[in-house]
Amino acid sequence: MYNNGRKKYCCAYTNCPYKKTESLKATGHKNKETRNYKKPTCKYEGYTGDTYCKDCGTLLSSGKPTKKFDHDWNSGTVTKKATCKEEGSVTYTCENCGETETVSTKKTKHDYREEQHKNATCTENGYSISVCQVCNDKKKEEIVAKGHSKGIRNKTTATCKAEGYTGDTYCRTCKTLLEEGKILPKLEHQWNDGTVTKRATYETAGELTYRCRKCAAKRIISIEKLAYPKVGTSYTISGNEYKVSKPGAEVILVKTSKTTKNVTVPAQIYAQGITYKVTSIGAKAFNNNKNLTKVTIGTNIVEINSNAFFNCKNLKTVTIKSVYLTRKTANKKAFKNAHKKLVIRVPKKVKKIYKKIFKGLKVK
Ligand SMILES: [Zn+2]
Ligand SMILES: [Zn+2]
Ligand SMILES: [Zn+2]
Ligand SMILES: [Zn+2]
Ligand SMILES: [Zn+2]
Repeated sequence: MYNNGRKKYCCAYTNCPYKKTESLKATGHKNKETRNYKKPTCKYEGYTGDTYCKDCGTLLSSGKPTKKFDHDWNSGTVTKKATCKEEGSVTYTCENCGETETVSTKKTKHDYREEQHKNATCTENGYSISVCQVCNDKKKEEIVAKGHSKGIRNKTTATCKAEGYTGDTYCRTCKTLLEEGKILPKLEHQWNDGTVTKRATYETAGELTYRCRKCAAKRIISIEKLAYPKVGTSYTISGNEYKVSKPGAEVILVKTSKTTKNVTVPAQIYAQGITYKVTSIGAKAFNNNKNLTKVTIGTNIVEINSNAFFNCKNLKTVTIKSVYLTRKTANKKAFKNAHKKLVIRVPKKVKKIYKKIFKGLKVK
């Protein structure tokens, strides 16, 4: 029993007013039972049940609701077919309780066919119009212009012979000229170190030819004529020494070998590429040559200096071929102390004059 009990005592003697009351301990609810239990289904919640005392019928504790089970849906049935215009539906049925649930399904895609098309150009958008074969829905899509596709043409590289060109910029797709190119200036020639193609001489200028290393172009620069050897320049030819008296033109015979017997003074000599007229016989050209017996004087001699043949004691024959001697340029002093039998042979046409020039000597 749940509640504590009470026990009353009375005195055993008759008529005694004394009474005594004593408490008794409760025994407790020993037999319990569950009532109102309910199993859950997919439609309703369940209940754990209330606990009661079987002895006294007291409600000891209340139960709790328990969750519904999930429905056991089947695989569903299409109750409405979706089109490109309207959503469809699928209905699912619980295999336990028969409850149904309908779920909508998405519209299908339109079945578009292109009916109009305009290609985009480089600069203008195009479009495409399509119509749904089922619901007639129209759709216009823009085709975006891609812009020009730049290319270069007519490009040429500048060389040292010709101008170049940067090339025109044009569109590879629509061929429109977008920008004209620019002219590139000719390149400078690249000259080599040059070659002497014509040597300068005393008479003519020479040529130095440069060639471009890149093209065949050539550039010719003239080289000045050579300068003739100066007055006083000395040449020794066949043992005889000459000195320049007129650059590039005339020399004087200044010295001869003292051992030669027979000497010919030439009309001209050739030295360093130059032909000189031998025009004069110097003051000490032959003097004191005791071996000298015979001399021939060339056609270009204009002057024979005094003492030229001084003391040539054995000189017997002098042949003068020149016709240019005058009293101012020659006289007998040139043959002072020559052999006593010296004979001077001269050209016929000047014999008369030469006899006067060499008066006192034997002139033939
Ligand atoms: Zn009880
Ligand atoms: Zn169900
Ligand atoms: Zn459609
Ligand atoms: Zn274009
Ligand atoms: Zn060049």
